Amino acid sequence: MAYKTIYPFTNETLKEYANHTDAELEQAIASGHALYKKWRRENNLEERKAQLHKVADLLRRDADKYAETITKDMGKLIGEAKGEVLLCADIADYYADKADEFLKPQVLETAAGEAYYIKQSIGVIFAVEPWNFPFYQVMRVFAPNFIAGNPMLLKHASCCPGSAVAFEDLVREAGVEEGAFKNLFISYEQVSKAISDKRIAGACLTGSERGGASIAEEAGRNLKKSSLELGGNDAFIVLDDADMDEVKAVMNFARLFNAGQVCTSSKRFIVTEKNYDRFVRDLVEVFSQAKWGDPMDPSTTLAPLSSAQAKKDVLKAIDVAVANGAVVEYGNKPIDHPGNFVMPTVITGIDKNNPLYNKEVFGPVGEVYKVKDEAEAIALANDSSYGLGGTVFSSNLDHAREVAAQIETGMSFINSGWTSLPELPFGGIKNSGYGRELSELGFTTFINEHLVFTP
Ligand code: NDP
Repeated sequence: MAYKTIYPFTNETLKEYANHTDAELEQAIASGHALYKKWRRENNLEERKAQLHKVADLLRRDADKYAETITKDMGKLIGEAKGEVLLCADIADYYADKADEFLKPQVLETAAGEAYYIKQSIGVIFAVEPWNFPFYQVMRVFAPNFIAGNPMLLKHASCCPGSAVAFEDLVREAGVEEGAFKNLFISYEQVSKAISDKRIAGACLTGSERGGASIAEEAGRNLKKSSLELGGNDAFIVLDDADMDEVKAVMNFARLFNAGQVCTSSKRFIVTEKNYDRFVRDLVEVFSQAKWGDPMDPSTTLAPLSSAQAKKDVLKAIDVAVANGAVVEYGNKPIDHPGNFVMPTVITGIDKNNPLYNKEVFGPVGEVYKVKDEAEAIALANDSSYGLGGTVFSSNLDHAREVAAQIETGMSFINSGWTSLPELPFGGIKNSGYGRELSELGFTTFINEHLVFTP
C-alpha cells in the first residue's frame, strides 16, 4: 500500500509517506487500549468535551489550511473542501454539547424491581475511511467515540495521506491525550491483523462493498461489532405534481457536488412521463453549465475526479452502458487536460439488462429513467441492490413523505437533494451497509448498554 498525495488536477506526486511497521501498529493498539482503561477508571468527560470544542475552534480558525490539504489530496473544489471542514467543526461541537444527554443512564420500567442501563465505552475502534470526504468521514467516527470514551485507530485511503496527517496534528494541537486518535499508514493485511487483536473492540468502514465485506468478515470472525457505510445508487423521483423549477434548482448539487463522488448523490433520476422531456432538457442545461478547471480557483464549478483510476472507471461504465443500448444525451467528450476530468454526462435509455441499471457510478453522470406513474417509480427505485438514500419531489408534502416511506433506503429527502448534518443519522440498508453515523444513533454504535438491576 503506497500512501501518496497525487494532485488530481495535475497528476503530479506532491508527497509520499512511509508505511507504519508492525511494531508501530502494536504500539498504537497498546496506547489506545491503555487510554481506554484509564478513561474507564477516571471520568474525565469534562476534559474531553473541552478538547472536542477546541478541535472545532481549530477547524474554524484554520479552515483554509485544512481545505487546501483536502483539495491537494483528492481534488475537490476548494469551496467544497472548506464547507467540509466547517461541517466537521459543527460535528465536533454537536457531540461535545450532547455528551451529557447521550450518556445519561436510561431508567427502565419493570414491576420486578429497579432497573436502568448505563452507557459505557467498549474499547478501541478501528476505522477504515475513504477519500471522498477525507475529514468528514473521519470526524463522523472520531467525535462520538471520543465522547463515549472509545479511542480510535484510522486507516485512511492511500490517496489521502495529507488529510490523515493533518487530522492527527489537529487532534494533538487540541490537547487530546496520546492514544485517543492514531493514523496508521498500513496494508490491508495489517488492518485485518489489527481488527483480530483482542484489544480492538469494533470496526467500521466507509467505502466500497468489497472493502466493507472484508472488514465485516474479519470483525465477524472475531465476534466484534461493525458498522458499514457503503455505496449508493440513490433514486431521485420526480412525481407528476413536482415543481419543476425547484427540481431544476437542485440538480447541480444533487449530482455534481464533489464531482459526483458522493455515496448519497442522486444517481438515478426517475421521472414520470408528464415531466420527462422537460427534466432531460433541464438536466442537460444544468450539466452544460458546469465549468471544469483548477479546483483551487473559486470560480471553477467542476473538479477533477480523485484519481486517474477513478476517471478510467467512470468512462468505462459509460462505454459499457452505451454498448448495451443506453443513449448519451449530453457529455462524454474527452477533456484535454492532465487532470482527471470527466465531462458531466446525461444518459437515458437504460433498460434492466444494462450493466448500468444496478451499478453505482462515482462521477458526474446522471441516469434518467422514464416511468408511467408513481407506482412504477417506486418499483424502479426499489429494484436496486443498494439502499442508501433518495429524494422525492412533489408539491404535496404529505404525499411525498408517504412515497418516501415506501422506498427501501436508510434516508429520504423531500423536495431537496441529499444533506448531512450532525443531528441527522446517516446510513443505509441492503448493500449500502448497516449501522448509522452522526446523531444519537451514531453515538450508540460502539456503546455498551450496561443493565443494572436491583430486584
Ligand atoms: P474502497 O473501499 O476501495 O476504499 C475505501 C477505504 O477502504 C480506503 O481506505 C481503502 O484503502 C480501504 N480498503 C479497501 N479494501 C480494504 C481491505 N480489504 N482491507 C482494508 N482496507 C480496505 O473504495 P474506493 O476508494 O475504491 O471506491 C470505490 C467505490 O467505493 C465507489 O465507487 C463507491 O461505491 C464506494 N465508496 C463509497 C463511499 C461512501 O462515502 N460511502 C466513499 C468512497 C467510495 P486504500 O485506499 O488503501 O485502498
